[in-house]
Amino acid sequence: MEFRTEIESVAVIGAGTMGSGIAQVVAQAGYETQLYDIDTDRVDAGFETIESSLSKLVESDRLTDSESATTRDRITGTTELSALSDCDLAIEAAVENMDIKQEIFADLDGTLDSDVVLATNTSTLSVTSIASATTRPELVVGLHFMNPVPVMKGVELVSGSHTTDAVVEFVDEFAQELGKETWLSDDKPGFVSNRILMPWINEGIRAYDEGVATKADIDRGMKLGTNVPMGPLELADHIGLDICLDATETLHEELGDRYTPAYLLKRKVAAGDLGKKTGAGFYSYE
Ligand code: NAD
Repeated sequence: MEFRTEIESVAVIGAGTMGSGIAQVVAQAGYETQLYDIDTDRVDAGFETIESSLSKLVESDRLTDSESATTRDRITGTTELSALSDCDLAIEAAVENMDIKQEIFADLDGTLDSDVVLATNTSTLSVTSIASATTRPELVVGLHFMNPVPVMKGVELVSGSHTTDAVVEFVDEFAQELGKETWLSDDKPGFVSNRILMPWINEGIRAYDEGVATKADIDRGMKLGTNVPMGPLELADHIGLDICLDATETLHEELGDRYTPAYLLKRKVAAGDLGKKTGAGFYSYE
């Protein structure tokens, strides 16, 4: 199926934590950007986040005053869906709720030209189900940015059941133009990132609730012990607890109890494949 690959303007739907960050990096890369949300206060809040993020980049000499001003000028806020009608690519970053996302995708399908790719920033929801609300499921793809978007390099690409390889390649190139690096996941609950991250956060919260350690020591232990930049409780706060709960509920509903030791882990241990020290674990170290 043919689709539009010449991109001048990009629609970003949702002006919250992620949408504002996505609008910023898209505009920084030179695209005209329409930032849509359901009311003016939310659009204004999105602009405040962008202004503050751009100021930090200027203060740390990563952006000049004029680049910051140009970026800001490329972004137009709107609460009218019709303002998105000329856009060449849409990236949805509204709340993590299937009904709302399907409604948005049905509206985008009716508003944007039929050859425009529609991407979702969903953390855990099925891209295939979101795409089913449109008449162009081949052109619907997951483009999952990490938080904070202007800082984090990674973008997860998610291919739905009908997404064509050409569309995945196209959004891959687009993400790279934004200065990002990508990996590909099939459309399975939580994809790669949140399928693994959310149980980690959830267990950190449980450990705190069950008195294993103080909040500070849980975060400190994971940082010092596993070299991650933030512990689970800090990271949960950073992501947004509502977002974490929505994501965890989806994983629970779709995957059930994931805390039983993995069969493959037990089998490898029984086989003596203990990792680096034995020369083989999940990788080999010959
Ligand atoms: P947020 O709560 O900060 O922002 C969501 C925005 O969506 C709000 O401004 C809200 O007004 C808007 N919205 C609600 N209904 C809408 C509608 N019908 N049309 C348009 N906008 C609507 O949430 P967020 O953290 O920015 O998350 C947005 C999406 O990105 C979710 O799907 C989330 O799972 C995903 N995500 C979040 C993170 C994170 O760390 N927060 C990371 C990666 C992906």
